[in-house]
Amino acid sequence: MGKAELTLAEATAMFLYVAGRMQGSQDLLTQADQAIGDGDHGIGMARGFAAVQVTLPASPPATVADLLKTTGMALLTSIGGASGVIFGTLSRGGARNLADDTVFNSETLSRLLTDGLAAVQERGKANPGDKTMVDALTPAAAKAAEMTAALLDESLPAVAEAARLGMEATKGMVAATGKARALGPRAIGFADPGALSMYLILDFMTQYVTSGE
Ligand code: ADP
Ligand code: MG
Repeated sequence: MGKAELTLAEATAMFLYVAGRMQGSQDLLTQADQAIGDGDHGIGMARGFAAVQVTLPASPPATVADLLKTTGMALLTSIGGASGVIFGTLSRGGARNLADDTVFNSETLSRLLTDGLAAVQERGKANPGDKTMVDALTPAAAKAAEMTAALLDESLPAVAEAARLGMEATKGMVAATGKARALGPRAIGFADPGALSMYLILDFMTQYVTSGE
């Protein structure tokens, strides 16, 4: 049995679960960034999510927006490099229109991804096709917007699958921004590390929501 929606306490537990699993993905993300970047993406994400694990219990959120802002601030201030700004901005920007919500449902997921994507693009100026995490986030946000009326344990698996397909599609792209840009066509065949992180975050959220724990 999965979950139709999450209480604030469950949403916080989900973020802590994702934080643990992202730290466990350090080697995978390191390898992805070694292929077409400078190799620091795994260590950066692990450091960022370790900070999330410390910060959330120390300042328990009162709303879902608080949860996202606190998470985003922890990522932003602990990860050096582009991804700290990008994933920090996603989480903070995703809180923009959540007002005082204290449940996390498919509508919340859609707001988080749509507003977070807008914030990331305002900040980083990447477009779809540039071989960044935007290529995983854009189809994920579109799928979430289609599924706002669904139960969370139905929407999240579909959203994560959309992100996975977006991440897979980055393998065929030449990078228009970031460290991989200098490689030109030699980046073809390799997934963008940030797109891989974006997919993994949504996959770990899915695992939390569908596991029935
Ligand atoms: P750095 O590029 O500083 O070494 P990381 O290796 O931690 O930082 O993160 C690289 C990832 O950041 C890329 O794979 C890409 O997905 C993401 N990224 C870089 N620049 C942008 C941007 N302008 N917009 C969106 N994502 C970006
Ligand atoms: Mg890097």
